[in-house]
Amino acid sequence: MNIKILSRNASLFSTDALVQAAVKRKHNVQVIDPLNCDIVIEKKKPEIYYRGKKLDHVDAVIPRIGSSITFYGTAVVRQFEMMNVFTTIQSQALVDSRDKLRSLQILSKAGLGLPKTVFTNYSKDVSEVISHVGGAPLIIKLLEGTQGLGVVLAETKTAAESVLEAFNGLQARVIVQEYVKEAKGADIRVLIVDGQVVGAMKRQGKEGEFRSNLHRGGSASIIELSEEEENAAIKAAKALKLGVAGVDMLQSERGPLILEVNSSPGLEGIQIATGKDIAKSIIRFIERSV
Ligand code: ADP
Repeated sequence: MNIKILSRNASLFSTDALVQAAVKRKHNVQVIDPLNCDIVIEKKKPEIYYRGKKLDHVDAVIPRIGSSITFYGTAVVRQFEMMNVFTTIQSQALVDSRDKLRSLQILSKAGLGLPKTVFTNYSKDVSEVISHVGGAPLIIKLLEGTQGLGVVLAETKTAAESVLEAFNGLQARVIVQEYVKEAKGADIRVLIVDGQVVGAMKRQGKEGEFRSNLHRGGSASIIELSEEEENAAIKAAKALKLGVAGVDMLQSERGPLILEVNSSPGLEGIQIATGKDIAKSIIRFIERSV
């Protein structure tokens, strides 16, 4: 099969792991930078040119679109869809998953457990927002944040008020969320491919840190999921229509609470923690689907 990986950097662990997995299964694979693709739109003749050369006979694409290029990257994926090329992540699912608020709305409708969350339009009434999530301590998150940056734990009501006022003053969009204390600085990342769990790890934040992101010094270990956690992860990926997804959840007294669902989940941490070849599962998903 002729597979294209849409990624800006062929030397990234995840991109390279996908290339290796495709080669091992005897596919023809190429990494292409979506920013170097030209989209040509004409009646019934959608085309893509990569570095000036028309892309023909592509069977499948694997989008690995970073959040900084969501708009253009999504347009390229959509063009492949118009050319009837299979994609592991559909363009609309990519758009939905990139918007934290929109994904939470979709997940809530699907009946998934979530930390109680409030979004307001630069509200002047900060006190009321705080009372919606049951008071301090609480979490304030920048809507555009990734890798734990822009996630703040406000321990007291006064701290929460000043942080919210500061963000409001900067016109930065934030969500306010109940702080799930019993998660104890840990979360669970579940990798879903084609509706199945293919790997799961628990991430623990470093000493004194409530954020468990590996980029913030957290450590990962393999975990056996409960049936409830497994079902929640599968349901979350399905609700967002993602063929490949990294579902993040907190363990709480009322069961798993979904934090977010990533459409280009990193493979390094999870492959090392679980010893599983997740890239191979993604290639096999393509083989079954094309
Ligand atoms: P990002 O997308 O930047 O990683 P997250 O929403 O995943 O942002 O938050 C980063 C980390 O902070 C999570 O992995 C989790 O450990 C912690 N965290 C986030 N929200 C909460 C919450 N409501 N209660 C407790 N811990 C949280």
